[in-house]
Amino acid sequence: MSKYSIVWLRRDLRLEDNAALYHGLRSGVPIKPIFIFDENILSKLNAKDDARVTFLHNTVLELKSKLKALGSDLQVYYDKPSNVWRQLVDDDDLVAAYVNRDYETYAIDRDSSVADMLGKAGKGWYDYKDQVIFDNDEVVKDNGEPYTVFTPYKRKWMAKLESRMESPLDQSYYFKSYPCEKYYEHLLTYDGGDVVELSTMGFERSAIAIPSTEVSQKLIKSYDQQRNFPAVDGTSKLGVHFRFGTVSIREKARKAQRLNDTYLSELVWRDFYSMILQHYPHVEDNSFREKYEAVPWRDAEADFQAWCEGRTGYPIVDAGMRELNTTGYMHNRVRMITASFLTKHLLIYWKKGERYFAEKLLDYDLASNSGGWQWAAGCGTDAAPYFRIFNPYTQATKFDKDRRYIKKWVPEVDTDSYPDPIVDHKEARERCLHAYKVGLGKI
Ligand code: FAD
Repeated sequence: MSKYSIVWLRRDLRLEDNAALYHGLRSGVPIKPIFIFDENILSKLNAKDDARVTFLHNTVLELKSKLKALGSDLQVYYDKPSNVWRQLVDDDDLVAAYVNRDYETYAIDRDSSVADMLGKAGKGWYDYKDQVIFDNDEVVKDNGEPYTVFTPYKRKWMAKLESRMESPLDQSYYFKSYPCEKYYEHLLTYDGGDVVELSTMGFERSAIAIPSTEVSQKLIKSYDQQRNFPAVDGTSKLGVHFRFGTVSIREKARKAQRLNDTYLSELVWRDFYSMILQHYPHVEDNSFREKYEAVPWRDAEADFQAWCEGRTGYPIVDAGMRELNTTGYMHNRVRMITASFLTKHLLIYWKKGERYFAEKLLDYDLASNSGGWQWAAGCGTDAAPYFRIFNPYTQATKFDKDRRYIKKWVPEVDTDSYPDPIVDHKEARERCLHAYKVGLGKI
């Protein structure tokens, strides 16, 4: 084979508007795209029919057939990335690897050891920003420190965006797409062989449907009015696609900028939590505000199980958990309610709920999930204060007035077979306030 470089696809599973692919294709060296089903990650998943693995598998097959139609291929491995790369670097014809940056600790360690291997073999490693609009130190305070509060972060984010717009109607430089298609002729012609079967990796096909990548303009235009009502199909459901890079964040941000400020603001939240993870990696496992670790959290397995299974006797909480268990999705408003309920009403440490969401959510993303959970528990950046305890009844009345959402997921809600509340709201509230005050040394 002649000289070639590799584009290693990970959570950027598309051939359009992909920064690493674009830069690789423009390098002048033919590009061989590869994907690795990472044994380290897959071996930790509990459900054999994990919907995300089915989605990944389908997406990889689609990418392979698109690449074949372009005269190239996708070589797919099932192994630990370190094993795969140990073999790949041995090839004298390999020039360099191109990747899009990933900000989780595991990924950072993985990438730095692969970069090291390549460096030692005299080959290049080029990484690019693709998953977010701004990363690293691109949006920081004037004194160079990272923001920990969302509103000033967003203000600076918007200012940076506008600094590279020639006119208010202009497309921002930061939302510009990478026109990979202009350079597809630089894809390597090769035979990537077969794709490993799901069953070989110990998985089964999931029946859970994946939301479309297409979102109507109408939905985005009315996003700010509809987004808080879980019975309404008013949010984009793009989370899973942002997670795996099956859509481009730049493309969606460009649309949001034109159609709805509130939607764009949600994408800024996504950048914000990613930035927090980049600067404060301890949030992966611990509270951002470490003093909250001292709250006397309850070890209440039966309560936790009731929460997981949607049998707390609080209809809006149970509806949310059942939606999650059935579809791999939960509406944002209900994520806030269920997370607040677990951490405040049941006084169970946020990490237990975070792990449960991580197992079930199609759009599970470490930065946003840990951010959302810590927001609810009061121990994160810019979090709901500990004394703000959502009242699940008031929340339901406000956001599910005609109980459409509740009745969809908890059809037995008004019958004798529906359980009594596992805790009394008022008592739980007082218990929570007391425990937080004890933990924070206020009493
Ligand atoms: P839309 O409302 O259509 O928003 C569009 C996109 O904006 C989302 O897909 C997401 O990428 C981003 N976004 C919206 N809200 C937020 C937010 N509050 N924080 C960060 N990004 C946001 N989001 C995840 O992507 N992965 C998670 O694992 C996750 N876990 C969460 C856990 C809790 C406890 C809470 C309160 C929120 C969590 N979120 C998470 C944020 C939010 O609930 C989801 O992004 C949103 O519900 C996904 O649905 P959607 O794609 O229809 O979002």
